[in-house]
Amino acid sequence: MSGPTAEATTSDRGSVRSGQITVRCPATGEVVGTVPNLDREGIAGQCADLRRAQPAWESLGPQGRSIHLLRWLDWLLDNERRLLMLVQKETGKSWADASMEMSVVVDVINYFAANAAAFLQDRHVKPAGPANSLRRLRVQVRPHQLVGLITPWNGPLAGPMMDVVGALTAGAAVISKPSEVTPLAWSEAVRGWRDEIGAPPVLDVATGTGDAGSAVVDQADMVMFTGSVRTGRAIAVRCAERLIPCSLELGGKDALIVLADADLERAAGAAVWGGMTNSGQACVGVERVYVEAPVYDEFVELVTGKVSALRQGMDAPGSFASDIGAMVTTAQVDIVADHVADAVAKGARVLVGGQRGAGNTFQPTVLVDVDHSMRCMREETFGPTLAIMRVDDEDEAIAMANDSEYGLSSSLWTRDRARAERLSRRIEAGSVSVNNALVATFQMPVPMGGWKNSGLGSRFGGAAGVLKYCRQQSVVEERFTPKSEPMWYPVNPTRSRLMSRAVRFLGAHDWRRRLDLRGRR
Ligand code: NAD
Repeated sequence: MSGPTAEATTSDRGSVRSGQITVRCPATGEVVGTVPNLDREGIAGQCADLRRAQPAWESLGPQGRSIHLLRWLDWLLDNERRLLMLVQKETGKSWADASMEMSVVVDVINYFAANAAAFLQDRHVKPAGPANSLRRLRVQVRPHQLVGLITPWNGPLAGPMMDVVGALTAGAAVISKPSEVTPLAWSEAVRGWRDEIGAPPVLDVATGTGDAGSAVVDQADMVMFTGSVRTGRAIAVRCAERLIPCSLELGGKDALIVLADADLERAAGAAVWGGMTNSGQACVGVERVYVEAPVYDEFVELVTGKVSALRQGMDAPGSFASDIGAMVTTAQVDIVADHVADAVAKGARVLVGGQRGAGNTFQPTVLVDVDHSMRCMREETFGPTLAIMRVDDEDEAIAMANDSEYGLSSSLWTRDRARAERLSRRIEAGSVSVNNALVATFQMPVPMGGWKNSGLGSRFGGAAGVLKYCRQQSVVEERFTPKSEPMWYPVNPTRSRLMSRAVRFLGAHDWRRRLDLRGRR
């Protein structure tokens, strides 16, 4: 791996030079900050410090750790405007989209802090089998000492927060690697933890490019990654080589299915919100819509009206004057433009939008007459587009929704609960929002995880959201401690024969076998 290069890459968003990353606002082009581009040695040093601090953190217990997490929440809220301004400047988001990040922060910290003790308590279980009946069995959990947390650029504050809280709650130390494109808000949040609230130094931030991410993978005991399929696969391979676990939250191509009995007004509103929120740069964003033929025209008209009314652009902090903002990278705008051009070349029609806009935006776009030969229906667009396809019936809708390498989330619209229940079991995705979009993603008591190429493992899921950062340890304790046991040496033929008979007598399910009468039939 390379350390900081003397004259390294220059991206559309900023530059990496001599150990420093310069971050620019995608909407305005202004420089909004710099962070170090840490090298392998620097990250190894951070990790060694984190490992030194971790045992004391673990020994605080879940309640002691929750106190620090709640203090952090206080500090984050006290500094909300400043943090969200950083989020906005490094992403070009609308203020509404930036603000949503803080609501995720609040929910995640409160949920895990409130449930930490219950999630981490020892499990006392009944022994199995007569020979073990006098033993006491307990399962206790111990954290992986150092969790590596690597995140993408679409949610600079909420993204890392969705996973760091579970890991810290577990008692792990965490080395976090934010995207080199958007490292500012998260670096400031981690500074808050380290410098402002008196918390133990068990959280640090390793800013840098993909090389820094790879250094984190080489240092950690467990890796939590969110990002593209390509990087996720490379990380999984490296983790396999190191024999350490990883959990991967990857890309998506989420489908929304509208059946003829749906509330169309609400479905159209959800499709537009689900497709356009964060300028479409959401892993669980709605990208494909399948509508039953009888309601197709009405649905398309409703969606078209709502998308035409969207206000776009990076608005002033606190103003909530815009619906969606800029896109984070020009490379992503290029992908969106390519998908739209490819669809149009293959026969799709653009009903709204379809063009690049000012300030690194792409206009909110509705595509119809689409099919699965088009990139917009198969590859992750990750932009403000909705591609809507007419289907004959629910079977075709499900078949089309499942015709994807991805399986992150999905959305299903019908007024018939039994139908929703039945169809949800046929959708090949990690979650299904019924009569809403995106919401399944942010329910901490249930798992959020991708099927197929969308991931490995899951986040949240109640206790599972903390236990994934732990190793299980079984403790088997003797109630009685005689000087010897029947199986111990020396082998005694009479005793061993008796034991074999006892195993058969107690374990078999019929008298012939219990009494070993097979030969005597
Ligand atoms: P990316 O995979 O390019 O980068 C993600 C992170 O990995 C960055 O911090 C990057 O520096 C780091 N990285 C790059 N190469 C690495 C390597 N070899 N080893 C270790 N780390 C490395 O993804 P992106 O373009 O930043 O983000 C967009 C993608 O993230 C989309 O595919 C989107 O769907 C996905 N995403 C998924 C979820 C989810 O929960 N499933 C959430 C948000 C985004």
